[in-house]
Order: sequence, then C-alpha cells, then structure tokens
Amino acid sequence: MLSTLHEQFSLREFNTFGVEARARWFCRVRSADELAALAAEPRLAGLPRLVLGGGSNLLLTGDFDGLVVKVEVPGLRDLGDADGAWHIEVGAGENWHATVERLLAMERPGLENLALIPGNCGAAPIQNIGAYGLELAERFDSLSAWDFDSQQTMRMSTAECDFGYRDSIFKRAMAGRRVILAITLALPRQWLPVAGYADVAQELKARGIAQPGARDIFDAVVATRRRKLPDPAVIGNAGSFFKNPIVSRDEHRALIAHHPSLVGYPLSGGRVKLAAAWLIDAAGLKGATRGRAGVYEKQALVLVNRGGATGAEILALAREVQDKVAEKFGLWLEPEPVIV
Ligand SMILES: Cc1cc2nc3c(=O)[nH]c(=O)nc-3n(C[C@H](O)[C@H](O)[C@H](O)COP(=O)(O)OP(=O)(O)OC[C@H]3O[C@@H](n4cnc5c(N)ncnc54)[C@H](O)[C@@H]3O)c2cc1C
Repeated sequence: MLSTLHEQFSLREFNTFGVEARARWFCRVRSADELAALAAEPRLAGLPRLVLGGGSNLLLTGDFDGLVVKVEVPGLRDLGDADGAWHIEVGAGENWHATVERLLAMERPGLENLALIPGNCGAAPIQNIGAYGLELAERFDSLSAWDFDSQQTMRMSTAECDFGYRDSIFKRAMAGRRVILAITLALPRQWLPVAGYADVAQELKARGIAQPGARDIFDAVVATRRRKLPDPAVIGNAGSFFKNPIVSRDEHRALIAHHPSLVGYPLSGGRVKLAAAWLIDAAGLKGATRGRAGVYEKQALVLVNRGGATGAEILALAREVQDKVAEKFGLWLEPEPVIV
C-alpha cells in the first residue's frame, strides 16, 4: 500500500546541516511492500530518487526535483550465534547510537567504538561508518535491500557491499538504486577491546582504567566526541566533511621534506593516511567564516552552518578548502558526505 506522498516538502528538519531545501515528493517507508507501491506510482515514474535516513551525511545544495524516500523500517532481532559471533538484525530506520547502547545492555558488545555517530542503521553500510579504530565492516554480516530495477528484495554479503575507507558499492554503482531495509551485524562472542586509538587510550588513562570493558570504551568514546565535535542540534554540520587522504610512502616522504610537522598514520603496504584536519589548519582555514558557513574552530575537518546558511554557501566554502589545500600541498580532499 502506498503511504502518504507529500508534495513540495521542506527537508530542513531532515538534514543535520539544517539547510532549507524542498523535495518535489517526499514519502516515509517502513517495508518492501511500500517501496513496491512507490515504484508503481505513475506520478513518480522516471523521477530521480534520494534515499534518506537521519540526514547526517549529506549536503543539500538546492531543491530536489524528484522523490525523497525516508526509510523508517523498525525492529531488532537477536538471531543467535553462528561462526563465533552473535548475529543481530536491525531495521534500517533504527537510530544507530540507540542501537549501540541497546546492544550493550543486551550484553552484545562490539560496537562501542562507533557510539554517538548520528544517523540510522540503514545508512551505516553506505560509507562503512568508522571511528576510533573500528569500521562497520568488521562487525557486519549482510544486509537486505530493495532493488528498484528488479523490484525485488535481495541479500548482500560483506563482499558484495565492497566496503572501503568511508566507501561501499552504495556510494557508487548502487546509489539511488538499492534501499537498505535491514542490516545483520556479527558481534564476536569473544569480545576484545579496541582501545589503541590515541584519543580513546588517553581518555581511559585519564579515568584510571587499565583494562577497559565495553562500557568503559563506550563512555570514553562518548566523552571524547562530546568534547571535540559540534552537536548538530546546536550547530548544523555533517561531521567530518573531508576524507583523510591516503598517499604512497614516496609521496609522504616528499611532503614531510617540506612540511615536517605533517600528521600521518601508517597503513599496511607502506601507505600513509594524512590528517585532513591538519592540512586544512595549515592552509589557514581553521575557524574561517564565509557568509553564514564556517570551518569549525575546534576541528577543521568539520564545516558548520553558523545560522541560516544555504547548501550552496557551504559547498562554496568546501570548494575553497579543497582549492587552498591543493595549492599548498598538491592534494585534493574528497568530500565525505553525499552532495545532492
Ligand atoms: C556530528 C557528526 C559526527 C559524525 N561522525 C561520524 C563518524 O565518526 N564516522 C562516520 O563514519 N560518520 C560520521 N558522521 C556521518 C554520519 O553520521 C554517518 O555517515 C551516518 O551513517 C549517516 O546516517 P544517516 O541515517 O544520517 O544517513 P543520511 O545522511 O540520511 O544518508 C547518507 C547517505 O546514505 C544513503 N542512505 C541512507 N539510508 C539509506 C538506506 N536505508 N538505503 C540506502 N541508502 C541509504 C543516502 O542516500 C545518502 O547517500 C557524523 C555526522 C555528524 C553530523
């Protein structure tokens, strides 16, 4: 059955940048049947589609002349253990942080490093969310998704999702085509702390915790994030606006020769992940304001809406950041959020 279709619908409340943009059509869906009904609706035929979760990883640069599908599939099911892991299926519309907390309470730890990431569970695979030394891919089994082309629900394994650093097939070939209905997590039964990341390690040390449990890591991550990142309810933002660039060992050597304090983290295979925040700061843009858009003063990776900014203003600032970093370091920063 087709759920209510709204015409010329404001998306201001549905994106954490808090920018105004209108959708020609807007619809909430809770099941594959409702998606099938949308696909059959003649008024929507041939229109571009935007799938929406919590709106915390996108920048709307203008009105959307198509259909916005807000995914609200509910539910959480413990599927039991298999292959040494607890398998939990969660509806795409469930809030991510609330799910992390709920699983901890159910004694199903494993996601604590990803606490307080805004948005919904259905969007977690899109950019393979990651933080403080852990990525979703390490706690993932499979997902079910509705495919607009074949009009069927299908299962996709970790390999089929083709996860990368802040990346998956959903940002590429499957963008706008597949709607994730539910994800199945795989949480190792033999829980081990992931506590090596500097910020988490420091926070645990400051709390006098040498052998942290999952709750300790959860608390340390939440405290660190609250200190460092702006709350979108107070100041509009989409978290990190740029990915950390990854360079070869030789490129890194050449950069270090000119910029000895450049911050980078070694990866396997000799490559180095550079701190984009350091590059932006060194390009003189930390705390910058352009009109009503800005670079957050406490964390240069985050672009903010200082009040009433348009998506186009934020995009113009993002372009300036890219240009200045490219000019100074010869590196092009890739945006992390989806730009619509
Ligand atoms: C303050 C702040 C901190 C953040 N910190 C982090 C962090 O530490 N690590 C990190 O990885 N991210 C972080 N983010 C980014 C963001 O929270 C995540 O990417 C999150 O998973 C986005 O979820 P969402 O529901 O808001 O997705 P949306 O913003 O609604 O959508 C993002 C993308 O996913 C697609 N999408 C959403 N739902 C579905 C679905 N059901 N099926 C198919 N496609 C879908 C959309 O079309 C869009 O392309 C942060 C954001 C903010 C505002």
